[in-house]
Amino acid sequence: MKFDIVTIFPRMVEAGLAEGVVSRGIANGVLDIRVHDLREFTADRHRSVDDVPYGGGPGMVMKPEPLVKACTAIAETRGTPGAVIVLSPQGRRFDQAEAVRLGGLGHVVLLCGRYEGMDERVLELVGAEELSIGDYVVSGGELPALVVVDAVSRLVPGVVGDGQSVEEDSFARGLLDHPHYTRPAAFAGHDVPPVLLSGHHGDVRRWRRKAALARTLERRPDLLAVAELDADDRVLLDEIANERT
Ligand code: SAH
Repeated sequence: MKFDIVTIFPRMVEAGLAEGVVSRGIANGVLDIRVHDLREFTADRHRSVDDVPYGGGPGMVMKPEPLVKACTAIAETRGTPGAVIVLSPQGRRFDQAEAVRLGGLGHVVLLCGRYEGMDERVLELVGAEELSIGDYVVSGGELPALVVVDAVSRLVPGVVGDGQSVEEDSFARGLLDHPHYTRPAAFAGHDVPPVLLSGHHGDVRRWRRKAALARTLERRPDLLAVAELDADDRVLLDEIANERT
């Protein structure tokens, strides 16, 4: 999986790539990630990437030329990407399904905004899609880009040590994850559910599936409504409903 990230704060992005599973994926060669300093694609002495907005008003706007040049250079040196993503609070909401889709593209370019955002023409010129990480505004696209890179990278085989853990994560099967426990079995008067200590794999699996269903029902009924449930899940949901009354 290849990513190219364009930013005015390359060190901020590199710091986010330097730890944990993503850094391991890079070290393994499973992830090929380049961070590009937008200022490298400026032509003026001050290496300026922003300018005042036409029409007036507060804030600055990212100039189109450096961003378009960066995309052209990336396509030439790294190949034509499957998608160019502009991080923006105005974009489609990023979610697990979107992470799966981007993973399937193999090569994604991410453009990080700053200031009031980018000159609108960049979107058309580079054929970009806009993605938002949620309904709030952060100061730049760097953290959102790291969120996208991390979520997509986890799905690339070989990045997370145990592929099964990714398959069991929240959202992977349309449900929230079940609760997790580790030693000690009794802690500050709170015990681990006994079934997890039983050694019965079938019972453990059933308990976890039921806990995931109960949790999703309680916290995210919207997810449950569209989850793919089988006959066993229906039985578990009936049990949950009966236990509640
Ligand atoms: N004026 C813009 C916000 C600019 S914030 C607006 O109201 O839409 C500066 C940059 O931070 C944006 O260009 C974008 O790249 C990034 N950003 C802020 N919030 C974001 C979010 N929720 N998702 C993705 N990117 C975001």
